[in-house]
Amino acid sequence: MSAERRRPLIAANWKMNLLKADAAEYCRDLRRGLAAATATGEVDARVVIFPSFPLIPVVARELVDSEVEVGGQDLHPEERGAHTGDVSASQLADAGCTWVLCGHSERRQNHGESDEWVGLKVAAAARHRQLSPLICVGETRAERQEGRTFEVLARQLLAALAGGPGPFALAYEPVWAIGTGETATPEIAQEAHRFLRQRITEELGEVTAAAVPILYGGSVTPDNAASLIAQPDIDGFLVGGASLDPQKFLAIIRCSG
Ligand code: PEP
Repeated sequence: MSAERRRPLIAANWKMNLLKADAAEYCRDLRRGLAAATATGEVDARVVIFPSFPLIPVVARELVDSEVEVGGQDLHPEERGAHTGDVSASQLADAGCTWVLCGHSERRQNHGESDEWVGLKVAAAARHRQLSPLICVGETRAERQEGRTFEVLARQLLAALAGGPGPFALAYEPVWAIGTGETATPEIAQEAHRFLRQRITEELGEVTAAAVPILYGGSVTPDNAASLIAQPDIDGFLVGGASLDPQKFLAIIRCSG
């Protein structure tokens, strides 16, 4: 599908890493590096940090009045109640978040989250309006080897969109590439991204599909980012391991222009 170039969206998923002091220092380094890259016109990207819950206030404070946004790594579909260990959309927004991850494969695998449960989370974020869901989809190695990649991606995508999302972004994260050092080739990633955009077109129409940022995630580094972002349907990255080093994360942002 031809479309004007979408503004790159580059997101850092810190997972269960860093303490308050590290997070504050990271944000100061990131602000400094981004200010320099933006001033020279080198970079025009949207940047989001997904810290673990206890770090959200520190990150929000350090990044205040910057263009960098903050997101939660998960949310509960309900607004309040007896859900020990969970957080709601309102609590995330109240803490300064504008994004939330929905359906990360580590939640699907480690916490048994079903496609339908992910859909409820997406709907909860959409109801809140201030929060945009970043919906993660991706096949396992076995599913790819069995030739089921598109079937799995379509199933996960449609369930996530079942509640009628507001604005959202999508991350294609092949499970076999997450944290393994084995990145999808640009061709493999582009094929999946093009498929996802076609399915969004069928569900939500061409205008929406042309605007939705589709990020790639799975062992992105400063060395492979440029060839991935050069693909027409890859609009940015969800970066895990390499995002823990602000200089590597900045290098990935710079590759994305
Ligand atoms: C992730 O967990 O979203 C991710 C992409 O991790 P990594 O970059 O470490 O593969």
